[in-house]
Amino acid sequence: MSHNFSKEYESAHDAIHTGAFSKDKEIDALVKKLKKLLAADGFDDTGSDALDALRKHIMSFSPSRVLKGTSSNEASKILEMAVAYGGTANAYQGSDGLSLRASAMKLLRHTYFLSKTGAKSLWVISVPKGYMDWPSLELKPLSSNEAVLKDRLAKVREYFSNTNKKHMHEGTLFALNWVQKTLIVLANVGKDKGKSMELVKRWFETKDTSASDLTAIVSNLTSGFKKLQAVLNGNRLIFTDNPSDRGTNEEKNTEAFVWNGAWKDSLKVVYIEQGFFARGANVLSGKDNWARIIVHELTHSELGTEDYPPDNSYGWQGINPADAKFNGNKAITNAENWAYFAADCAAAMSNGERNTALRLP
Ligand SMILES: [Zn+2]
Repeated sequence: MSHNFSKEYESAHDAIHTGAFSKDKEIDALVKKLKKLLAADGFDDTGSDALDALRKHIMSFSPSRVLKGTSSNEASKILEMAVAYGGTANAYQGSDGLSLRASAMKLLRHTYFLSKTGAKSLWVISVPKGYMDWPSLELKPLSSNEAVLKDRLAKVREYFSNTNKKHMHEGTLFALNWVQKTLIVLANVGKDKGKSMELVKRWFETKDTSASDLTAIVSNLTSGFKKLQAVLNGNRLIFTDNPSDRGTNEEKNTEAFVWNGAWKDSLKVVYIEQGFFARGANVLSGKDNWARIIVHELTHSELGTEDYPPDNSYGWQGINPADAKFNGNKAITNAENWAYFAADCAAAMSNGERNTALRLP
């Protein structure tokens, strides 16, 4: 049984902060850095240099890294740091504690802090291909067998390519830009002869929406987009895939998702699946589609929006608020209406794309 990323973070946090790692001077200094990075409430960007220091410590060139995506040297380094060997004979000593310490190092070795000067940052978790779950769960049953554990630790080829990472980061910067433009539009409501209100009506005015409802909708949108702006500006946003979805239709057909209910993440996590990177599969494409997906998902996790009505709530299905499916002021509850409204405020849609999203049945 899997768990969400926040629980995996917690496991790594606890292992790094309380685990017995090697007392070697260099490793000890590295663990100190990792402790700073792993704050109780999530990754601390002021400690992000620990990730490069960790990779520098364990990575080395080998042909098999390039050809097979494996590095047994890297596996040995992790086992050494996690104190896999001991006693007078310096023999292998497998235990749950060892697998947790090794898992924490493995997770962090595949964690990236993407940041450019003057631009906002993003954490990306790229658990190796061949893993079907988070490192702590993947490695837990293997600790009794040194060779098997080492093999799994040696897998270094990652799920997200460098291009994937770049696109996720660009999408995030774009999403922030949309949100900022949207807040300008919302601030102009009532000051520009109805131009901004027309945008609000275009995406949220249902057959049942009154003038006072519209006032409430504008204030709801304003506070909501301010929250999204804070998250996108906040150096805490995490993107990862959901490893237990790998190889399934969920992975192939989903663009992204966030957990809610009992599985809701305590950290700010968006799960990015293969549909995110697909070309021409949605109304918008490229950067615009990435930004739309990110805004859509953050309205779920931060604002509690829904996919309403279930199974008929997406832009490609038509989300004109005049559609009877939104009767009762329901357009404001639908994540996709928020995302398309933001795209429209940012002038990120062609007329054709807008017409597709606004078509009526
Ligand atoms: Zn959704």
